[in-house]
Amino acid sequence: MEASGEEHSKLLEEALARLERGEISLSRLDRELGNSNLAALVRRLYLERKLGVSLSAVASTILDFEEIVGRNIENPIGAVQVPLAVAGPLRVEGEYARGDFYVPLATTEGALVASINRGMKAVTLSGGARVRVVKDGMARAPLIRTPSVEDAVRLVEWVRENEERLREAASRKTRHGRLVEIQPFIVGNLVWLRLVYKTGDAMGMNMATIASDEVCREIEASYDGSMECVALSGNLCVDKKASHLNKLLGRGKYVVAEALLKRDVIEGVLKASAEAIHYVNLSKNLLGGAVAGNLGFNAHFANIIAAIFIATGQDVAQVVESSMGYTWTEPRGGDLYVSVTLPSLEVGTVGGGTWLPTQREALSIMGVAGGGDPPGVNALKFAEIVAASVLAGEVNLLAALAAGHLARAHETLARGRGR
Ligand code: NAP
Repeated sequence: MEASGEEHSKLLEEALARLERGEISLSRLDRELGNSNLAALVRRLYLERKLGVSLSAVASTILDFEEIVGRNIENPIGAVQVPLAVAGPLRVEGEYARGDFYVPLATTEGALVASINRGMKAVTLSGGARVRVVKDGMARAPLIRTPSVEDAVRLVEWVRENEERLREAASRKTRHGRLVEIQPFIVGNLVWLRLVYKTGDAMGMNMATIASDEVCREIEASYDGSMECVALSGNLCVDKKASHLNKLLGRGKYVVAEALLKRDVIEGVLKASAEAIHYVNLSKNLLGGAVAGNLGFNAHFANIIAAIFIATGQDVAQVVESSMGYTWTEPRGGDLYVSVTLPSLEVGTVGGGTWLPTQREALSIMGVAGGGDPPGVNALKFAEIVAASVLAGEVNLLAALAAGHLARAHETLARGRGR
C-alpha cells in the first residue's frame, strides 16, 4: 500500500534528521526508504539545507529512479538537461543506413549544430555520404602473469590450440556476444589476451567484460602451466584512453565515410574551393597534427561524436577513442573527394543509457532504437549515420577555415598590403 501524504512527509523528515545526525549515509537511503524516487528527494533536500543552495531545476525530470538505480546510476538527486537539436537531412548511402536522416545532437556549444547542418547540406547536395563499416569488434584484454617468457610463449600456444574451448566459455555468459578473435601480446613474462567480440546491437563493454571473466576462469581451470590473471582489463583493450593500438586494430566499429563534393556546392554552399579546403586539411589536420603529436588527425570529430553520444545514451567517456581518426582529401578537377576514418567508434542501440526515455526517442529519430532484426543491424546502421555526420561536420569546419583564410588573403592582396 502507498504511503499517505502525512506518512510520506514523516518518513522524509525522519530520514533527513538521521542524515543530519550522521546515522545513515546518502547511499543507504534507497534501501532505508525502499523507494529510489523518495531517496533522490531526500538527498536533494539534505543538500539544499546543508549547502544553502536551490536544486529545483535539478529536481525537474521525467526519470523514474525506481527503474534507473541499479542499472545506470547510484545516489541520484535529479537530472541535468542538455539542449537537443537535429541537423539534416543527411543523405547516407551505407550498407545498413540508406536514405535521408535527421541526426539528434545534444550540446551547449552555440554554432555547432548550424555548422554540422551546413556540412550535411553540402554532402547531401553532392549525392550523399558513402559509408562502410570495415571491421566490427569490441575488445577486452585481460592481463596474465607467468613466471618467464618461456611460460608466456607456452600459454599463448595453448590459447591458440584451445580457441574453441575459450569461445564456448565466453558464450556461456551472453546470447549476443560472440568471441571472434584472440590477439595475444607478450611483454617480458606478461601476456595480454586481447579478446575481440561481436556484440550485436550493444556497444558491448559490459558484455565483453563478463564474457572475458569467464574466459579467464576457463584458462585457470584448464591450463596446466603456471599463470595468474592479474587484471581483467590490462589496458590493451583500450577503453577510454587515446591509443595507437585502437587506431591500428580497431575497436567497436571501424568506419569510413566519404563524399565527392561538387565544385558548385563547394562554391555555393561552403563559399570555398576544393584546393583551399585540401590545403587546410594537409597543413592543419595532417602536418599540424603531426607537429603536435596528436593521435587524431582531424579538425573536430569529437564535437559531433560527443553531441550524438549525449543525445543517444552512449558512454560519453568513450568519446576519447571514438573520436580518434583521419580526414583525407583529394582535389578531383574542381570537385573534392573527402573521407573520414574512425577506427574505434563505440556505439550501441541497446544497453547502457540507450533505453532511457529521451535517449531512446533520439535514437528513434534515426530509426535505430532498440535491437535490430537480425541483431546487430541497428548498431551498424547507427555507426554509419554517426560517421556520415562526422564527415559533414569535418567538411564544414575545413571549408569555414579555408574561406576565412581566403577572405584574409583577399583583403591583404586586393588592398596591396601583401607586398
Ligand atoms: P549491457 O546492457 O550490459 O548488455 C546488453 C544487454 O542487452 C545484454 O544483456 C544482452 O543480452 C541484451 N540484448 C538484448 N538484445 C540485444 C541485441 N539485439 N544486441 C545485443 N545485446 C542485446 O550493455 P553493454 O553494451 O555490454 O555495456 C554498456 C555499458 O557498459 C554502458 O553502461 C557502459 O557505460 C558500461 N561500461 C562497462 C565497462 C566495464 O568494464 N564493465 C566499461 C566501460 C563501459 P545477452 O548478453 O544475453 O546477449
